[in-house]
This record gives sequence, structure tokens and C-alpha cells, in this order.
Amino acid sequence: MKTAMPTTPAPDRLTAELADELQAIAATGLTRRRRVLETPCGRNATVDGKKVLNFAANDYLGLAGNAEIAGALADGAVQWGAGSGASHLVSGHLVPHEALESEIAAFTGFARALTFSTGYLANLAVTPTLAGRGDAVFADKLNHASLIDAMQLAKANGADVQRYPHNDVAALEKLLATSTAGRKIIVTDAVFSMDGDLAPLPLLFALAERYDAWLIIDDAHGFGVLGPQGRGSLAHFNLPASPRILLMGTLGKAAGVGGAFVAGSATAIDYLLQKGRAYIFTTAAPPAIACALSKSLQLIVGGDALRANLMARIAQLRDGLAGLPYSLLPSPTAIQPLIVGANEAAVALSTALWERGLWVPAIRPPTVPKGTARLRISVSAAHTAADIDTLISALKESA
Ligand SMILES: *Cc1c(COP(=O)(O)O)cnc(C)c1O
Repeated sequence: MKTAMPTTPAPDRLTAELADELQAIAATGLTRRRRVLETPCGRNATVDGKKVLNFAANDYLGLAGNAEIAGALADGAVQWGAGSGASHLVSGHLVPHEALESEIAAFTGFARALTFSTGYLANLAVTPTLAGRGDAVFADKLNHASLIDAMQLAKANGADVQRYPHNDVAALEKLLATSTAGRKIIVTDAVFSMDGDLAPLPLLFALAERYDAWLIIDDAHGFGVLGPQGRGSLAHFNLPASPRILLMGTLGKAAGVGGAFVAGSATAIDYLLQKGRAYIFTTAAPPAIACALSKSLQLIVGGDALRANLMARIAQLRDGLAGLPYSLLPSPTAIQPLIVGANEAAVALSTALWERGLWVPAIRPPTVPKGTARLRISVSAAHTAADIDTLISALKESA
């Protein structure tokens, strides 16, 4: 038998499929693109030579560009080198990591803490490690994407995952009351990342106690900002560091550096250290990052003036935007969502602001529910009263 040599190479079907999908995304105007910043993160950003006021970053205390923290990072690199060399359990756990863990435990009031390279990773390490076959996880519908992915992993481990309507304590109680699961775990953002509102943590904690459940709290946007000395959402609500709570916080937002932690009882943290795959099978962050974070923690503790300025700017913005055709969600935090509705209108408003030198990102479905496209205004302690006035005037003239 004679086989004919193909005259043209076989078409790469996979690449062709991806190109088609990308084209479909472009056709609906949903292509995502990155802007390249020519300046460090701060209240101003320069993009393509254009200077804009930055309302896009999660740098709530203005610490990302802080010189003392950058100095601690540089000194840390000189003393400890560039890399950790291995995972924490092999040989990558250095003195600065150990010190940072203790400092975070003391700061949050928990017995112990573990640190991670990112918040995404921290969330993957917690719920899927604690919940398996016969267990049930109850998750708020508006939880962050990283928690949603953690739920998928928990499901793959055999756990039953139920999502309850946003902040609906009564619906959650029904689920808990009828659950026959072994372990019951409630998972929630403390501050919701697209709405800026707070979870009713005291009510959730009361349910956890009543139904012998655990409460896992993602405090990405509360840590450093809320509570006395910025100790976070639990401190804001005056809740105890209970052994049935695990507190996750990110260190790339208000803390201005990068990474995350999980704090809890000595037993729960030891369990995560022994069994958390997303903790065990990844290289420890560079030790200099831990040095920078220890400095950042000091600045957060002493940062009452920063937090007072942040709260004043939030209040100024909310007062100034009353009477606009669009409404601000009732958010008490640095995340101030202005609901526009239609995707095109949100993008048009964001573009109009950009042309006036203001960077305020539009957030569209599927990141937020259909019909609720919005501007997500991130307020920072680095903003001045004049910055906020500029934003208010521009919004009034563009809306
Ligand atoms: C940003 C964020 C994360 C992820 O943290 P990273 O350190 O950016 O990976 C997790 N949860 C919430 C609620 C967040 O906003």
C-alpha cells in the first residue's frame, strides 16, 4: 500500500479554535487588555506618556510606593539574597518568614499564621484541605473568584458545596439546619470585592457556633483598613479569634507588597501546614518580601492618620456624588462602586474619565451580574481632597 505524503502541513486545529474564540470575545467588545504603567503604583500613573490620577489600584493606604518598605525590601535582598530556594517544608523557610508569621499572628490575635505567595494560593490551601467526602461547604454567591475556584477543588475532594444568596443569613441558616454533613464550613469575603459591602460577620459567627461549623473569612480588603490599627474585619466587629475561625488576608492590597496569610488556632494552622497542598508544593516567597511585609505591618499599626485620611476621602466622594444619575452602592469601604447598568455605558463613562486624566476601571459581566456594569472607584489614603474633587467634577460633567 502506498501512503500519500501530505502536501500541506495538517492545520493546527487547536490554535484555530482558540483564534475563533478570541474573535468571538472581540466581537462582543469584551477583550481584556493591559495598560503598561511607566511609573510606580501611586496616586498618579503615567501610561503612554499620559499622566492620570489613579483610582484603579487596591493600594488603600498608599503603601505600595512607600520608600521605607522599598528600603526594607532592598536591605532584605542584600542580607537574605533573591530567592528562598525551596518550599517552606523543604528548606525555604527563613528567619524573615518565621518572624513575619509571628508578627501576623500577634497582629490578628490568632495563635498562629502561615504565609503564602498570593491570596489566590492561600484560598486554595484552606477549604479544599479542610473539606472532603461527607462534608459541606456553604459559600456566599458573591465570593471572590479565588474562593470559587477553591470551592471547585473542595468539590473534587468530595465535599458538597452550596452557595447561598449574598449576605442572606436566613437562607444560610436553613441550609445549616437541614445539613447532615460531617464538617460544616461557611466561607465568605469580609469585604466584597466588587460591591464594597461587609459580610454580617457577627451573625455568621453566631451561626457557626450554633451549628458547630467553621467560619472561613477572606479579609483581602479589610486587612490594614478596618478595625483598630487596621487589624481587619474581625477586629472591626469586635469578634474573638475563635478556634472555629480561619482568617485569610492578602498582603498586596493595603499592605502594599504582595502575598497573603492564613491565621487561626495552633491546631488548624498545623493541619494546613501538614496537609495543605497549595502550601506544601510551592516555593516560599523570597525572604526579602517578608522583610518588606514586616516593615509594612509596622506602618499599618501606626497608620491611624492614613486610615483617617482614607475614611475622610471616602465620605467626601460619597457626599459629592449624591444627585448623579448613577447610584453608588451603600459601601462603607475603600471600594466605591458606581452602578451604570449597560456595559457600553460603563465603558463610555470610564473612557470619558480617562480622557480627562482619571483612571477608573469599568467592571462588566461576568465579573459582576448582568445589567450591573459599574465603575469601581478605589479610594486610597494617598488621594488628596483635591483629587476627589477632580473626580467628582469629572463624573458630574461626563454622566
Ligand atoms: C485580591 C483578592 C484575592 C487574591 O489575592 P491575591 O494576593 O491578589 O492573589 C482573594 N480574595 C479577595 C476577596 C481578593 O480581593
